[in-house]
Amino acid sequence: MKKILILPGDGIGQEVTNECLKVINFFKKNHKIEHSEDLFGGASIDANGEPLTRDVLDKALEADAVLLGAVGGPKWENLEHNLKPEKGLLTLRKELEAYANLRPGKVFPALIDASTLKKNIVEGTDIFVVRELTGGIYFGEPRYIKKIGEKRVGSNNLIYNEDEIARVARKAFDIARLRNNKVTSLDKANVLEVMQLWRDVVSEIHQNEYKDVELEHLYIDNAAMQVIKRPSTFDVILAGNLFGDIISDEIAELTGSLGMLPSASIGDKHGIYEPVHGSAPDIAGQNIANPIAAILSLGMLFKYSLDLPEVHDLIEKSVSLTLDSGFRTKDIGTENTLTCSEMGDEILKNIDKLS
Ligand code: NAD
Repeated sequence: MKKILILPGDGIGQEVTNECLKVINFFKKNHKIEHSEDLFGGASIDANGEPLTRDVLDKALEADAVLLGAVGGPKWENLEHNLKPEKGLLTLRKELEAYANLRPGKVFPALIDASTLKKNIVEGTDIFVVRELTGGIYFGEPRYIKKIGEKRVGSNNLIYNEDEIARVARKAFDIARLRNNKVTSLDKANVLEVMQLWRDVVSEIHQNEYKDVELEHLYIDNAAMQVIKRPSTFDVILAGNLFGDIISDEIAELTGSLGMLPSASIGDKHGIYEPVHGSAPDIAGQNIANPIAAILSLGMLFKYSLDLPEVHDLIEKSVSLTLDSGFRTKDIGTENTLTCSEMGDEILKNIDKLS
């Protein structure tokens, strides 16, 4: 039996994970899966005084995968750093040793006009960013702003050891094998020693273990141009924490709306799946949020944590068909828009029809 822990969190997190629950219940008929639900983020602060309790963390460690909604909101914004909802998110990622962040950027044909790029350029774009999540410049020590002599000086360190590079590279190659068999690795090896090591290790892993996968190296500055010039030629993009953070947002912009973007953070044992968007306090409680990002995140959960790629494909096809039929939520359309729960129902109807 595979266990899914759902942590809806705050704001629209509850609304979009409710739609995921409909999909989980559908697949329970034919697959050995069970789910439980718990408090997280602001909802957990209100009930328990902290964003992630030990009990919920233990349940997450026991589960095969965790599905998150979103956390945060004005109510908790002024709490001290350690008690904020976002702290729960960071602790969860750290404790579950989720060192690779996965962000697909797929252009659905029905929404092609939402992209800022011309249709003929963006058509067929299906990029998958694998970003190193627990190392690099965001974590390098020492880090400070201090006075040296008369001037304030700020410093951070970009450090990677070869094991950190190797494990995320393997994830990228493994994922490429499940997709179109190509990895583009981003670095700045022409200027930074640590990035030369990045390039060397990625090349070694490729040479020794993944010769069947095509490998391309690009400098990050060139990559920032190429993903806009020829987005449809990329498959998996592998990058360190900083470059991956930036390039994944650039790619997100190609695809249109925030309400459409799924993501995952995975390690060797655990996976956390969540829409890229936040808790959207401005529309929370109105049943108008777009549940597609969350439902696509659930699709990724089936593929990468439950080893059910066929369920992932079915969910993605059903979302595509729903959009092709003209159904939209308010963030991606203006006419005859559906509520959050109606969109979930339409996607579910198509899952049923296509399965
Ligand atoms: P946001 O992503 O919540 O919202 C940005 C804008 O996009 C809003 O106008 C919102 O209405 C819209 N939007 C977002 N998701 C949507 C959806 N599914 N359907 C329709 N419209 C959608 O970002 P924000 O407003 O900067 O942050 C709000 C709160 O969420 C803050 O407390 C922030 O810290 C938190 N946050 C949490 C996460 C997370 O849980 N991973 C990520 C980002 C922000």
